[in-house]
Amino acid sequence: MKIVERAYKYRLYPTKSQATLIRKTLGCVRFVYNYYLGKRIELYKTRGTTLTYTQCSKDMTQLKKELTWLKEVDKFALQNSLRNLDAAYQNFFREVKQGNKNQGFPKFKSKRNNWKKYKTNLTNNNIEIKGDRIKLPKLGWVKFANSRNPEGQIINATISQTPTGKYFVSVCCLSEIEELPNSENVVGIDLGIKHFATLSTGEMIANPKHLQKLEQQLTRQQRKLSRKKIGSGKWYKQKHKVAKLHERIANQRNDFLNKLSFRLINENQVICRESLDIKDMLQDSKYAKSISDISWSEFGRMIDYKADWYGRIAVKIDQYYPSSQICYVCNEKNPEIKDLKIREWVCSNCGSKHDRDHNASINIKNEGLRLLSQQI
Ligand SMILES: [Zn+2]
Repeated sequence: MKIVERAYKYRLYPTKSQATLIRKTLGCVRFVYNYYLGKRIELYKTRGTTLTYTQCSKDMTQLKKELTWLKEVDKFALQNSLRNLDAAYQNFFREVKQGNKNQGFPKFKSKRNNWKKYKTNLTNNNIEIKGDRIKLPKLGWVKFANSRNPEGQIINATISQTPTGKYFVSVCCLSEIEELPNSENVVGIDLGIKHFATLSTGEMIANPKHLQKLEQQLTRQQRKLSRKKIGSGKWYKQKHKVAKLHERIANQRNDFLNKLSFRLINENQVICRESLDIKDMLQDSKYAKSISDISWSEFGRMIDYKADWYGRIAVKIDQYYPSSQICYVCNEKNPEIKDLKIREWVCSNCGSKHDRDHNASINIKNEGLRLLSQQI
């Protein structure tokens, strides 16, 4: 038995006044974030010092006395906003220290930001679920689509608003997870453009058809949007349409990735995959769309946490390991196979015939096992 943090997401149906209060809270969260980001920047410029989370939090108690409207909203949401700001700072300095020059300085949050959410914490039963109602701080009992009751102790909840104006709540719980019975199987996964994944067993997993169709629709609707006059009524209408499609695609993709990652974790003890530098590949615009669409990185994240939950081993192969070029039969490297257009090839050394992706997935599996044996 293992205790893990698990999130359950539900659609919220707030009343008019509850919705107003959610939007107000989102506004206050943004205000607090920007206010203290500004303060920290100013302080650094004038005195070369900064503020810690605790100092900001203390200062906010004073600020609330001046700006009383801040008191109308959930205090945990405001505190968590300060924590986010602090995390953004620490992340920035950590990345810079590690030599990452692309890491941007924490940015002011814009009103137009699509990412609108706030987190609240559990204290004294302020978050509770009864049937199709959820109790949330300041909001009281809100109607929601309870598809299945969350398992375990609630620790926090994140309330979000989508660009299409829907509301959601993600309830985070400490849940008990039963580890899966041991398996003898090891799998290598080659993530690709033609197929979403090719397994070392020879199985090829296609990109879901309905997802491809939705993505074609999205391209069409985005083109339509670009022809409308920005800010006009028709433009807003079209923008809403595009946002709705984005949401549907994200939901279906998430569903596909969740099912596939769970299946692979369920069937195998060891799961080997490449660690891909998406940024490098995205520069090749021809592949950009399909790669970003199928979101390999999200898939990798799911494999990692599910492996952790269920007692499996996830191995990541170095992105520069030439999995496509090595013949898995004789280990000869065939550098000309670098060319992504070559789908099938014959090894110049041993004459074995290969499917590009299947050969790569077997190499990924073997390299994964080699890395594992080194660790032991
Ligand atoms: Zn060979």
